[in-house]
Amino acid sequence: AKVLVSGANGYIAAWVVRSLLEKGYAVRGTVRSASKGAHLQSLFASHGDKFEVVIVDDITKDGAFDEAVKGVDLVEHTASPFHFKVKQPEELIVPAVHGTVGILESVKKYGTSVKRVVITGSTASVLRPADGPITFSEADWNESAIAEVKEKGSAALPMIIYRASKTLAEKSAWEFYEKHKASVGWDLVVLNPPFVFGPPIHEVRALTELNTSMQDMYDTTVLGKRDAAGLAFGSAWIDVRDLGSAHVLAAEKAAAGGERIIVSAGGFFWQEIVDVANSITPAPLPGLAVGTPGSWKDTPRPITFVTDKADRILGLKYRSLETMVQDSLDEFAAFKNT
Ligand code: NDP
Repeated sequence: AKVLVSGANGYIAAWVVRSLLEKGYAVRGTVRSASKGAHLQSLFASHGDKFEVVIVDDITKDGAFDEAVKGVDLVEHTASPFHFKVKQPEELIVPAVHGTVGILESVKKYGTSVKRVVITGSTASVLRPADGPITFSEADWNESAIAEVKEKGSAALPMIIYRASKTLAEKSAWEFYEKHKASVGWDLVVLNPPFVFGPPIHEVRALTELNTSMQDMYDTTVLGKRDAAGLAFGSAWIDVRDLGSAHVLAAEKAAAGGERIIVSAGGFFWQEIVDVANSITPAPLPGLAVGTPGSWKDTPRPITFVTDKADRILGLKYRSLETMVQDSLDEFAAFKNT
């Protein structure tokens, strides 16, 4: 079977592509320009003509994916902006929403062989602020980010704008699906991961140009950029390699059709990650951040995600925090040595 992966040069998408190729699928990846496809072509060269790159230069344009969806059996839509360099809400919301609805429109019109569309959502569209420890499931929606952006406009924090973009994009995907599901030959799955960490295989030109979540990992563990309050911050995470596998399972498991599925390995505190980094021998890199070792230990996890659905439907197994931190730091060290 052939799978279309949008935004194939992204951090998560590169692992989605690798996971699919290793399971024997043929993959067509979309990138915004030929130069953004070059690294992928060499990364996946051993797969020969099972991997191809096509250019979709502007995902917000009507019909952007019309050609790309022709002849594929599955679609994995990952392209969506994840950064905090944003002045106007539209800069994130327009590509998130139009990209999502646009690819579904193209599948509806020209994806005559498509059986399933899997979208990379986020727990950003699930969670909401809370005064104390809180548990979320797939029944929860982040209405608060949408309301806050509506109220504050460009004065809303970039993080809140990002969360609103993911929530609005996911809502529009389900709306589109509900409206057309009786007349289309495919169903929809949305995967909702929390923070995604682990070794990058996409093109990283410098350790100052990592994707947003791994930049945070590098800046925190190696550069020591987090103060005490920043190190006390906790949330939930998943290893990028497990998220790659989850995208394959989401495409394969019949029972996933029509479901939004939270995929999370569990909680973390930044201080906990720093402590794990310092427990590795020999040290992968000199001068790692130290903070206040163990200070997170008596603190309850601020956010817990119920993952019963992923367990039941996907049967996903999760790598440990230790494995993720070790492999991430090894990758940073390898980068420094090249
Ligand atoms: P990356 O920034 O590495 O990848 C984002 C991808 O989307 C790139 O291919 C990028 O293309 C493409 N893209 C972004 N904006 C646009 C646009 N306006 N038009 C066309 N393409 C665009 O991020 P991640 O791999 O981390 O994110 C991938 C997905 O996973 C996103 O949907 C994100 O919301 C979601 N996610 C990520 C988490 C994380 O912790 N990393 C957590 C939860 C969800 P280009 O390189 O050309 O800019």
